[in-house]
This record gives sequence, C-alpha cells and structure tokens, in this order.
Amino acid sequence: MNLEIVTIGDELLLGFTIDTNAAHLAREFAALGVRIVRRTTCGDDADAIRDAVQQALDRTGAVITTGGLGPTADDQTKPAIASIFGRGMVMDETILANLEARWLKRFGHALPDSNRQQALVPEGCTILENRHGSAPGIWLEDARGRWVAMLPGVPREMRGMVADTMLPRLRDRLPQHGPVVRARTLRTANIAESALADRLGELARGVDGLSLAYLPGNDGVDLRLTSYNKPAMDTERALRAAADKVREKVGRFVYGEGDDDLAALMLADAGARGDTMAVAESCTGGLLGMRLTAVPGSSRVFLGGTIAYANEVKTRELGVDAAVIESQGAVSEAVARAMATGARLRFGSTIGMGITGIAGPDGGSAEKPVGTVWVAVDLRGEVRAVRAILPGDRSEIRWRASQLALDRLRKLYARDEDATGWTARGN
Ligand code: AMP
Ligand code: MG
Repeated sequence: MNLEIVTIGDELLLGFTIDTNAAHLAREFAALGVRIVRRTTCGDDADAIRDAVQQALDRTGAVITTGGLGPTADDQTKPAIASIFGRGMVMDETILANLEARWLKRFGHALPDSNRQQALVPEGCTILENRHGSAPGIWLEDARGRWVAMLPGVPREMRGMVADTMLPRLRDRLPQHGPVVRARTLRTANIAESALADRLGELARGVDGLSLAYLPGNDGVDLRLTSYNKPAMDTERALRAAADKVREKVGRFVYGEGDDDLAALMLADAGARGDTMAVAESCTGGLLGMRLTAVPGSSRVFLGGTIAYANEVKTRELGVDAAVIESQGAVSEAVARAMATGARLRFGSTIGMGITGIAGPDGGSAEKPVGTVWVAVDLRGEVRAVRAILPGDRSEIRWRASQLALDRLRKLYARDEDATGWTARGN
C-alpha cells in the first residue's frame, strides 16, 4: 500500500517546530509494510491544505494529515478536506456532548463558541477516538475507497492515535504476508566509521542483501541493518542472522542495540557484579554523574562524585599529588589515574572513574590539542587509562569523554585489553 503524509502548520514551514510527526508516521508505517511515497508540508491555509491533500489523494488514494484540528481560526483542516470530497460540515452531537461535559468538569462553565467548532465534522465521516486529548481524529472515505485520515498535531496525541486506531485499521487492509521495512541497530563506541568499515571487510557494503548504514553521533557510530522487501517473519530472521555476522567482525566495539544507553548498561553490569561507582570529573563537569543518575534505580550502584575543575580541588578533594599536576599537567595519564583512585577511596566504592581533558575552544597546544582527554577507571585497585583526541565542539567533546569513560569500564569488564578503536593510546 502506498501512502502520502501531509503535515499542516505555519510553525512547521517557518522552522519553529520540527516536523517530528512525519518522521514518526514514516517509521511506524514502514514497519507495517506501508510505503510512504511522499511527504508534504503546508501552512494553515484552506487553499494550501486543499491543494496538497487533493494532489496526494490523486497519486495514492491514501493520505494521512496531522495538525489544524484545534478550535482556533488557524485550524482549517476539516472543512478544507471535506470540500475535496464534496461534503459539508455537520455538528456531531456526541462530540459536542463530550466537549461540554469536559469543559464543565475542568473549568466549571459552559463551552465557549469557538470550541463548539471542534464538534463540526465532515458529513459521512468516521470519528477516530482520541483518548489522549480533546480533538478527535477524522476518517473520510469516498465510494472508490480513497481515504484521508486527519490526526491532531500535538505529537503525543498523534502518536497515541496511531497506535490506538491507525495501525489496527491499516493492518486490516494490508495483504497477509506483504513486504515490510524493518531495521536493527548495533551501537558501537570509540571506533571511527572507517575503522569499522575496514574490520567489516566484505560486509561493509551490506549483509545478505540487507543494507548497512553508518550513523555517526555523539554516542559513537550506530550500524543500522535495514530490510526493505521481505515478509515480516523472514525479515526478523534475516536481521538476526545479519546482526550475528556483523558482531562476529566488530562485536567487541558493540555495546548495545536499538536505543540502549551505555550509562544504563554499565550500571546494570556493575550492579550484577556487586560493584558500586564514584566519579571524579574535570572537563565533563558532572556530565558523567548526570548520565548515571538519569537512570532510574541508579542509587543501588552510584554513590556520588566530585567535580574537580581547579587543580587545588583535584588535590584537596581527591588526593591528586600537586607535584604530579605540576610536572605532567592536569590533562595527563597520571592525573586521570589519581582522580579515579581518589574517587574510589574517598567515596568507598569499588569503581572510580576519572576524566580530565581539554574541551575547548581554547586551551589546546601542539602537544595536547583541543579534544585531548584522558580517562581512567579503577576497578577494585586495578587501574586502566586511555587517551583519546575527541572530535567536535565543546559539548560534543564533553559528551564523548563521558562515553569514553563508560566504555573503558565496559572493556575492563570484558577483559578486552587491545581493543584499540580510534583512541590514540591506551593501557
Ligand atoms: P495543531 O493540532 O495544528 O493545533 O498543533 C498543535 C501543536 O502540535 C503545535 O503547536 C505544534 O507544537 C505541534 N505540532 C503540530 N504539527 C506538528 C508536527 N508535524 N511535528 C511536530 N509537532 C507538531
Ligand atoms: Mg496548528
């Protein structure tokens, strides 16, 4: 089944709101086997909506719109689309009664006239219940089976309605074993795209007919396998087999799948091993602690940390030898190691993690350019350090440094001593 999406709203055209609705719809429907063949965005203007939807309908006979279902004058979607189908607008007594009851309960007075408009619907439409907000969706279909589904613009309501009503409706209209588009993502950290491609060898261009995409980001490079034209059952099997082959080549750089978060994974790992964590952070300024405490239940493992930005604080709070800072510099292996051990001893944890680096944009030198970061992990007295020269701007370098520290712990647990990746030096 081919489908087009029309997202409606001046704020989308102006760039004030990013069109996340279209992306969400595309992902959900591709996984079901519905092909989104075109996306259009138009403003809150009846003629523009009418044109965009009419053309989309002529091409595919199946259109989903989002936005413009609210109670204000800029909400033109329903009458504009009704006119394409040659339908007028009628008051829906059930919606009106619901709105009136809702209003009385929430605000204690009668429904304002402008809100009565929300109960106006195209003649002969089907109402799509909205359990997540006040404006219901509308399904309009003609005698030839061509249809438009109108969904609200608020992303949370739109997502809820897709799951509640749109997916079941479309599933009924699709062939039983039609092709679907599904993907599986392996997440890698601290290895460059090119190094991954080298290690993948023949698989680098795709695995058994599935495409392989390299998606670099601040967490690392995600490897996404996508299957475009197999039935659902075969797709899952093919993705699993392909993921296994990729893992055979680069498995030790893979820390997770899908939207796994390395901080959450390491907390779970440490918890399972009976370890507790403390951090000592310089250039990341508490970011690692923030990431760890963002995970629900982290208090079972994470004890606390020190933001040791100034050299005196590294010495006073963590016991880093001032003479070592003086001779080696604050961004050095010796200082990172002393910070990790200092955190472990001061907080009484089994793991200490230390991060020191130059996040920029100033403060770099030929010997230690911006992006130079040393991280160290002390696991029950065994210390491992690693240096990297991280790319990006200040916030990217800081995020990547936190990822480097978490990944160093992962490798220590895995006893992976020579996983070099893109780091310049490590031990
Ligand atoms: P509307 O249903 O047109 O009144 O939209 C309500 C709110 O939903 C707008 O203020 C936007 O913030 C948001 N919104 C509308 N369309 C989209 C979209 N395509 N993607 C993300 N947010 C949207
Ligand atoms: Mg709007």
